[in-house]
Amino acid sequence: MVDAVTRDQQEFVYRLALSLARSTIDQLDGSIHKFLSELGHRLRADRSYLIMFDDATQTISITHEACLNGAPPQRDAIKHTPMARFPWLLDQLQRFPVLVIPEVEQLPHAAEEEKLEFRRESIRSLMLVGLQLEGENRGILGFDFLDLPTTRDPETERFLLQIADVLGASVHRQILASSNVRFENSLYRYSEQFPGVIFQFRVYPDGRATFPFISDKVSDMFGLTADMLQPDARPLLDLIDEQDKASFSEKVDESRSQMTPFETHFRALRHDGSTAWMEARSMPARLADDSIIWHGYFYDVTDRKRSESEIEQLAFYDALTGLPNRRLLRDRLAQALNSSTRDQSHGALAFIDLDNFKNINDSAGHLIGDELLIQVGQRLQQTVREWDTVARLGGDEFVLVLKGFPTETPSAAACVDKVCEKVRSALNEPYCLNGIEYTGTPSIGVTLFFDHDTSLEELLGQADMAMFRAKEDGRNCIRFYDSMMQKKVSERLAMESDLRLAVRKKQLEVHYQVLVDQNGQPVGAEALLRWCCPGRGMVSPAEFIPLAEETGLIESIGYWVLEEVLSRISSWKTLNSPLAKLPVSVNVSARQFHLPSFCSTVMALLRKTGASPRNLKVEITESALAYDLELVEETLGILRSMGIRISLDDFGTGYSSLGYLKRLSLDELKIDQGFVRDILDDPNDAAIAETILALASALRLSAVAEGVETKGQLDRLVRMGCTRFQGYYFSRPLPAQEFERFIEKAGRDRQRRAW
Ligand code: C2E
Ligand code: MG
Ligand code: MG
Repeated sequence: MVDAVTRDQQEFVYRLALSLARSTIDQLDGSIHKFLSELGHRLRADRSYLIMFDDATQTISITHEACLNGAPPQRDAIKHTPMARFPWLLDQLQRFPVLVIPEVEQLPHAAEEEKLEFRRESIRSLMLVGLQLEGENRGILGFDFLDLPTTRDPETERFLLQIADVLGASVHRQILASSNVRFENSLYRYSEQFPGVIFQFRVYPDGRATFPFISDKVSDMFGLTADMLQPDARPLLDLIDEQDKASFSEKVDESRSQMTPFETHFRALRHDGSTAWMEARSMPARLADDSIIWHGYFYDVTDRKRSESEIEQLAFYDALTGLPNRRLLRDRLAQALNSSTRDQSHGALAFIDLDNFKNINDSAGHLIGDELLIQVGQRLQQTVREWDTVARLGGDEFVLVLKGFPTETPSAAACVDKVCEKVRSALNEPYCLNGIEYTGTPSIGVTLFFDHDTSLEELLGQADMAMFRAKEDGRNCIRFYDSMMQKKVSERLAMESDLRLAVRKKQLEVHYQVLVDQNGQPVGAEALLRWCCPGRGMVSPAEFIPLAEETGLIESIGYWVLEEVLSRISSWKTLNSPLAKLPVSVNVSARQFHLPSFCSTVMALLRKTGASPRNLKVEITESALAYDLELVEETLGILRSMGIRISLDDFGTGYSSLGYLKRLSLDELKIDQGFVRDILDDPNDAAIAETILALASALRLSAVAEGVETKGQLDRLVRMGCTRFQGYYFSRPLPAQEFERFIEKAGRDRQRRAW
């Protein structure tokens, strides 16, 4: 029953079952009506309804109905309506559990009567499901469509069958209950029609129990006759399952002392040797001699119990491994937190992620992957103790909730570590998957909890964080969450909120670093962002740019930098100084570059500040190219057509292929400072730098060597043919005014030399 319907439908069935089971008899009508109307919406039906059969009068009546889209109700029209008016339909429902009528007009000749009925009500198509009570068709769950045709769809049919099951049980309850109100006066008359056993149960003040009345069905079920039970209730009470006897007596006592209705479920041994679930309901009354007499009924709910447990299985367990799912995990974790408080013991939550699971899934196929997950689930269950929980979150993620460790944190941690180590080595053992041996490893992240000191959400986050640490640390290992990890996270959060303020509080500044030619003459500048944060001092962009990218703050920061730099360039425009012609490079991060508005923003800022596009260079890193290449080409094309130059930053560290470079409109490559740093000592780095230079010259791009700090590096680069340089050897990045003085002085020195 479980596997064919969608998750969403399962949820619906589950919700329906729970809500009906929780409704009191008085609320039941309302709940059924609510679900009918939800069902109607789902199926796009104009009318959804329940019809019940009355065998005694051979009539049918609509008992519940939900009309949508202004469809007229039928409740009054179908009330004690003779069954004979629907001969074909009722016959079909005896044979098939679901009856779909895709088009009323195409009904077969045998259904002439029905066709007329439906036509009169302007019904175009229908879906009908038989309601089974005690194995017999006792009603219909139906849907009318006034305008739409319907089609047969196995999935919907299975879903409706489940719904009908659940509704059937409730209607059953309702029938029994409504009968219950009346039957006290006329036990005999009704008992025959009852699907269960009707009884009067009397407990005398001395504790003796009898059944003054019990209907004959008791002998079908339990092989006991009314005559046997009238003087002594014990033979029947003895058949109650050992596991349920205590709670049964408790319920009787409670009902007797408080005079409240007696309601319970219990298992009992049937005549045929099978165990059946019974549901009993009855009302107590006090007699003159102080005996208590209950009027009530019990009946077989084995089928319903079974479907309830199937539903529970659906809602709380992972279908592949049968392990608790995320929902049940939450529940178990909440219980574990409670027992930690109660017993003053430590508990632990462990996140387990299989290393490289994706590889096996992709290469060997999903079936093998599934098989591995099943086996992992089994090993986990065999490894932990019976009171621990093994859950699967989905994918290759498993979670353990471990309980009952010492109060002292260090010894608790040591014990938990032992358990996790056992888990790790169990998962390291080779697996046999479809005859092929496979070895795999897990990464395990663990966090401890004690006495509700952490919330459920926090714990899940902590274990997850620790698991990532285990991955980072080379996999197949166990890492405990520690407060340092948390500290880093909190620091990041604090930095993020400070950074948000930075733009508004004018804590950002742009510094400029000169680019020179082989004679040391300025040929450009790079704008480099600085954050002067009170309390943190000068924060390097290397530290906060990645954070700004992750949080999206880079968009406003990037805008601010562009505006600041372009205003500066514009203020230099009219100066009679080398500054007027100096191109300035601005770093643009991938996320900023890929904003659809990027080009138009640059254009608007150029207009607003009056800066010339010839003086602007945009620096992007290789990571910006890793997206949609066509989009990148387009953006670069637009920028170049505006007269802006493009520079590829940190070249050599990314994945740019030659193909890329040829296709894109670039002006400049910047050799990453990592290659320049060791250019004198590391032949590899030297070779790379040389290759980049050769490549640049082949593609007619200019090349800039970044991070030049010494004369030795400079000389080597010059010998390799490099003509553009940037680095501390020439100048550090300087605040704007200092940079202006620096350039003007360089200009004067040059003139002086020229004289
Ligand atoms: P980058 O674009 O590769 O910038 C060059 C970095 O090298 C700068 O670091 C600069 O101060 C440093 N540098 C220059 N000469 C030398 C040298 O001789 N030796 C050494 N060791 N380093 C040198 P900075 O300013 O810390 O910037 C780091 C990175 O932050 C930049 O790398 C750039 O990717 C990013 N960045 C800076 N400003 C911005 C900005 O406004 N927007 C964006 N998106 N990123 C920026
Ligand atoms: Mg740069
Ligand atoms: Mg760089």
